Amino acid sequence: MTLPSRTSPFLSWTWRRSSAKFFRPSRPRLDILLPRPYSTSTWTGSASERANQFRKVAIVSFALGVLGCYALQKGVSRRADTGDTHIVSSVHTSGPAVTDSDLSSSLNASNVPSECKSFTYGTPQDIKKAIEELRQTFPQSRVSTDPDVLHLHGSSENSYHPSSPHSVVVQASSTEDVVKVVNISRKYRVPIIPYSGATSLEGHFNGHSSGSICLDMSTMDKILEINEADGDLTCQAGARWEDINSTLTEKGIPLFFPLDPGPGATIGGMVGTGCSGTNAVRYGTAKAEWFLNLTVVLPSGKVIKTRRRARKSAAGFDTTKLFIGAEGTLGIITEATLRLTTRVPTKVAMAQFPNVEMAVNAVNDILKTPYGPHIQCAELLDDNMMSAINAAGLVDRPYLVQDTLFFKLQGSPESIMETSRAVQEIANKYGSSRFEFASTDEEAEEIWQNRKYALMSTLGAHPGTKCWTTDVCVPTSKLPQLVYETKADLAKAGLKYTIVGHVGDGNFHALIVFSDEKELEVVNAAVHRLVHRAIAMDGTCSGEHGVGIGKTEYLVEELGEGTVELMKTVKRAVDPLNLLNPGKLYP
Ligand SMILES: Cc1cc2nc3c(=O)[nH]c(=O)nc-3n(C[C@H](O)[C@H](O)[C@H](O)COP(=O)(O)OP(=O)(O)OC[C@H]3O[C@@H](n4cnc5c(N)ncnc54)[C@H](O)[C@@H]3O)c2cc1C
Repeated sequence: MTLPSRTSPFLSWTWRRSSAKFFRPSRPRLDILLPRPYSTSTWTGSASERANQFRKVAIVSFALGVLGCYALQKGVSRRADTGDTHIVSSVHTSGPAVTDSDLSSSLNASNVPSECKSFTYGTPQDIKKAIEELRQTFPQSRVSTDPDVLHLHGSSENSYHPSSPHSVVVQASSTEDVVKVVNISRKYRVPIIPYSGATSLEGHFNGHSSGSICLDMSTMDKILEINEADGDLTCQAGARWEDINSTLTEKGIPLFFPLDPGPGATIGGMVGTGCSGTNAVRYGTAKAEWFLNLTVVLPSGKVIKTRRRARKSAAGFDTTKLFIGAEGTLGIITEATLRLTTRVPTKVAMAQFPNVEMAVNAVNDILKTPYGPHIQCAELLDDNMMSAINAAGLVDRPYLVQDTLFFKLQGSPESIMETSRAVQEIANKYGSSRFEFASTDEEAEEIWQNRKYALMSTLGAHPGTKCWTTDVCVPTSKLPQLVYETKADLAKAGLKYTIVGHVGDGNFHALIVFSDEKELEVVNAAVHRLVHRAIAMDGTCSGEHGVGIGKTEYLVEELGEGTVELMKTVKRAVDPLNLLNPGKLYP
């Protein structure tokens, strides 16, 4: 087999990387079905038209705010908008820099029931002034109000949650730049949405309906220091995990960073979503100690470092963790020191199974043997996914259309042979018909790429459709039941889908395709049932993609009121004006 051509037509679906070219050519839109709430940041027409536009929005916002508060008091908890309860400018006079007393009175206001607390964001005039100040502070080429750029940065073709375009996109190149943007945001009370690799899947970086500054971190992508002897590396937050690993390889350093989420993801976003990936079964997730130290700009404009470079520290509680999975709502990460690990030789193998249950049970058994630690990855691709890879034309020799496990085994050649014998034996016990090693490095790379590009294969196999990707995670013993019930449910709903999973962790993704709004509703309902099914099995609404807008409604059910209130208390203390990525994460 040869490496697949990455120029297949469907792969013209480009990554939303803006780093190389800030003003990117427009990409094919996959999100035309996106419900568009009214938006104060859709600035079209003359200034007076915009003022009228705004006045209308302000009146509607105010009325909705009052009604919303009333409704919430009556026990209605579901929001119609991406935002928190925010009474936009109708109650706000222009925004001077926030003072200490503002902050402390805002903190005292934390006794007010959070649902009824309103955040006062900047008026259109304030937003205009903020944009002017950004233009005075940064070179023109790094501040954009081009409608296409605002739209592209404010929504994702990978998610179908409510979104608005940003008011302005600004590109930072240093921690000092980020401080300047944060201070301008605070001065004019304009929310900031951090944006980096743009591969997150739950509406994480969608624009805010009262106007927002998109802080594009993607060009802060330098590797600053590699300490080979200590096994760590310091980089800017916009560095991509793939670039970090290829740089280490090019320099002949036998170390790598094992977190491997979506192609194009960056360190800042990976901290933001608390990511993991195919290597998690062996190396754990972002919540393990792979981030030793973070440099963070807080909403106050203060710059902190969460730790030093030592491998471990018992000095206080773990403030690094505070930012992992915080989805850009507590601070903006500008630099990170990553722990690296030794690159161990690997071999890639594939085994087919009669059904998903047999495949998952085989992995569970394999991981319990003394050979378990030699399994770097154990990935499930269901029969639909195998068929999609074939149909998308990614392989010269079609794969067998059966539920399949992709393994990466690691160790010395001898231990890989021993491990593979053990794996094969257990696979046979669970009815596996074939167990094949990739015969060359290229073939191994191809198999792995096909796993990583599951989303594109799914879309490629169903031309003209869009795809909703969701992930849940359950205790591993519950996974076969979850997959079985979910497949039956999706089939009953008449939906086309593929399933891939980091099954060694009990984590699986359903990629469900749809072609119109009616079908999107059916998908939405199926995802809802899937999440409830996972939580009922003592699992989680997201094993790795995070909460964003899409999963906020499940947090109380999963974590309990007390835990969610603790999260909100931290948010209120750190970001009393609710300026960092509002409307995401907190229910
Ligand atoms: C094909 C595909 C496969 C994927 N596979 C996986 C997988 O295996 N495992 C997995 O975990 N995920 C996976 N994902 C999801 C995605 O890659 C991860 O969520 C990733 O961590 C997002 O990183 P990013 O740089 O793209 O962040 P973005 O999408 O740019 O941002 C993510 C969040 O972090 C915030 N943020 C961004 N930069 C910063 C910063 N500097 N400081 C503070 N906050 C910031 C944003 O505001 C947002 O809330 C996949 C996605 C795709 C499209």
